[in-house]
Amino acid sequence: MRTILTTALLLLLTLSAVNVVAAEKVKVYSVEKGAYIMSEKVEKSESEWRNILTAEQFHVLREEGTEPAFSGKYHDHHGEGVYACAGCGLDLFSSEAKYDSGTGWPSFTEPIDKANIGTKKDRRLFTVRTEVHCVRCGGHLGHVFEDGPEPTGLRYCLNSAALQFEPLE
Ligand code: FE
Repeated sequence: MRTILTTALLLLLTLSAVNVVAAEKVKVYSVEKGAYIMSEKVEKSESEWRNILTAEQFHVLREEGTEPAFSGKYHDHHGEGVYACAGCGLDLFSSEAKYDSGTGWPSFTEPIDKANIGTKKDRRLFTVRTEVHCVRCGGHLGHVFEDGPEPTGLRYCLNSAALQFEPLE
């Protein structure tokens, strides 16, 4: 009887372990690898996010907050490198696509790769805007507008708090 119970318990543990391994994967572009890779989605509880993010990062990334204009650390930041997700570290925007929009928020004409971001309609503030988020952790980054410069005509208007700059080596 005890053997059966032990076997059942082991089976249960194995099944739950398999479940963890089988986390949903997404295809994203890695700057370091110079190629697309399959990466596991990052899913955390609210308290887990609060433990690893600052209050400001949590508000922006997990509550779709917006930092005040000109308050963030990257709107007037000019280094060569990659702006990664402050939540999960995914490569999101390159300094090559960054430009001074004059809005007080870091602005880009395009992401490193469309595969790395997701968008959805945001109907708050009595208007329809297109929200932009990290495809791997779902963290809110900002919005994209169609009043950007050439060549894309797009303005990815992001929050500094959602980003982590990684300079080129
Ligand atoms: Fe992320």
